[in-house]
Amino acid sequence: MTSVVGGLLAELADVGRTRSGGYDRAAWTAPDLESRQWFVQCADALDLEVETDRNGNLWAWWHPELEGSALVLGSHLDSVPDGGAYDGPLGIASAFAAVASLRRDGFVPTRPLAVAAFADEEGARFGTACAGSRLLTGALPADRALALRDADGTTMAEAMAAAGVDPAHAGVDAARLARIGEYIELHIEQGHLATDAGAAGLSAAGAPVGVADRIWPHGRWRVDLPGQQNHAGTTPMAARRDPMVRLAHIVLAVREGALAAGALATVGKVTVTPGAVNAVAGSASLWIDARAEEEAAVRRVLAHVRRVTGTEAAEESWTAETAFDRGLTASVAAALGGVPVLPSGAGHDAGVFALAGIPTTMLLVRNPSGVSHAPEERADDADCEHGVDALITAIRHRAG
Ligand SMILES: [Zn+2]
Repeated sequence: MTSVVGGLLAELADVGRTRSGGYDRAAWTAPDLESRQWFVQCADALDLEVETDRNGNLWAWWHPELEGSALVLGSHLDSVPDGGAYDGPLGIASAFAAVASLRRDGFVPTRPLAVAAFADEEGARFGTACAGSRLLTGALPADRALALRDADGTTMAEAMAAAGVDPAHAGVDAARLARIGEYIELHIEQGHLATDAGAAGLSAAGAPVGVADRIWPHGRWRVDLPGQQNHAGTTPMAARRDPMVRLAHIVLAVREGALAAGALATVGKVTVTPGAVNAVAGSASLWIDARAEEEAAVRRVLAHVRRVTGTEAAEESWTAETAFDRGLTASVAAALGGVPVLPSGAGHDAGVFALAGIPTTMLLVRNPSGVSHAPEERADDADCEHGVDALITAIRHRAG
């Protein structure tokens, strides 16, 4: 029998589905809006009070009239291109399933509780991750965010307006921020990062659920390579200024540097102009994503690229190691009876709220595939139920 959380996720099974079985739910596109509609339906079914904040984030409140700061359970609904079914929606479906179960049991929270869906977490469309939460906290200035353009030239402001969210009100929302007392994000485990104990991930630990205590330092860099566009059939090899050759060197250097530094570094996006089979490229750009347990290891990757290829990559974003609240993390881990505590290699809205000074932690649900940001991402129904039970325990503990 499918669990409640499995049933909720099944309602999203066809929304933005790709041919390969993954999902395209970029922020403010039709599948994202359909997912947001699903959020409203879930909230309505539980008599929760729904609102959209100034930055397009969705909130479903349980007992908003209560005194005190809120316990917020959140995640996101948007996806990377051809992403998995669980990254984001699992956290929201699990939060709704937890509230449904607690209501059935007659539980009444002692403080306001909200389920939240933060807009544009993946940054797949406008290139900036966690836009909704970072606009809220002020980490991302509204004028900069709203001017970002997608591949078709549409600005974030235009995309929000088309979705019925007035971009004129976007920006730091101090009153709302002050209402968030604690933030807990349940998320599918992404990859199998080594823990302090040396074991790799929840599968190795034999645990369906874990707690994340920090997010690795991570950044994005861009390299633009000029060349001379020319005919592939008439330009002698020795006379070419072909940026693709340097691009290839850099991709290899990124990998070598990461292996040597014990970091994770990726070139997952390149653009080539004009991108013709029969033309030497006129220019090319590539993006480097690098993360590691320590900032120094990330910096060693970039230094290796510089030394080997003579290329200075331009830093587009940098996030230092983000530690989650020790007290909250320990309290949730203890309430769950001692579960594995792991770092997260991926960025999340939880990191944004932690950096804004809000006590934050994360619950991770085992992903036996070890694959995320791809159609193969997977969680077993029974593990998802364990995740909901963990959220229920956390809610009873923090709002009971
Ligand atoms: Zn996510």
